[in-house]
Amino acid sequence: MATIEMLLHGFTVASDQGSFAFCGISLIRGAKNIVVDAAHVGRRELIREKLAVKGLKPEDIDYVFLTHAHWDHSQNVDMFPNAKILLNPKEREYVKNPRASDWATPKWTSAMLEMQPIQEVRDGEEIDDGVTVIETPGHSRGTQGLLVRQGDRVVAACGDALPNAWAAGHGLPRIVFWDVDEARASIRKLLDRAQAFYPGHDRPFEWQAGHPKYLEPTSIRIFGWPDIGEGEGPGGMVYDAGQPRETLIVGSGKGD
Ligand SMILES: [Zn+2]
Repeated sequence: MATIEMLLHGFTVASDQGSFAFCGISLIRGAKNIVVDAAHVGRRELIREKLAVKGLKPEDIDYVFLTHAHWDHSQNVDMFPNAKILLNPKEREYVKNPRASDWATPKWTSAMLEMQPIQEVRDGEEIDDGVTVIETPGHSRGTQGLLVRQGDRVVAACGDALPNAWAAGHGLPRIVFWDVDEARASIRKLLDRAQAFYPGHDRPFEWQAGHPKYLEPTSIRIFGWPDIGEGEGPGGMVYDAGQPRETLIVGSGKGD
């Protein structure tokens, strides 16, 4: 039976100076070593370190399963020299000509991915013993996840279809780039089919009677050299926990 753990937690942390976009990475170990999502290059050395703790090198990874092709999930695909990139055919097609409004899918995405050996996977396909593809579109055109059988329960590695526990309660992901109705249906599908969730921008959780039960602790520490404001006025860093939570709809409707 394959095991699943999170190699790196994801975070839903934003700023008024742009996006951190730290996506979660799961590690599935069965007959194959599978990494779910590759994150952006800002996490590249951390991935190497976390794999080493597990006794693995990038060379040991057989599959990089991309939940979708957004920049923050896909940029490190080249760091696994022996891996096939598992991608949904709808996502592969979409990234050849992304919507102009879709700032998470730059035009170079397709060129970047096509430099790697891609293997297309579809809904219901078993890629390892008890590890099955589930299509969960809406956040992007071809978003997909994995259902991992663990004895009598199922764990979902769900990417940005269900990016955090807030999305489970809200019924929509944090951001919709492709289609609101599909995104809503995909969350319902995931909540129906699995008992625990390894999400795109959060830590693992179970969803019990409308509330999250987190399965492990997490933290993020932000540091640097903030300008303390000598000379021309105040500077510094501010943490604002009071930001309203709402879904951002970048695009919706297939004719958009
Ligand atoms: Zn995304």
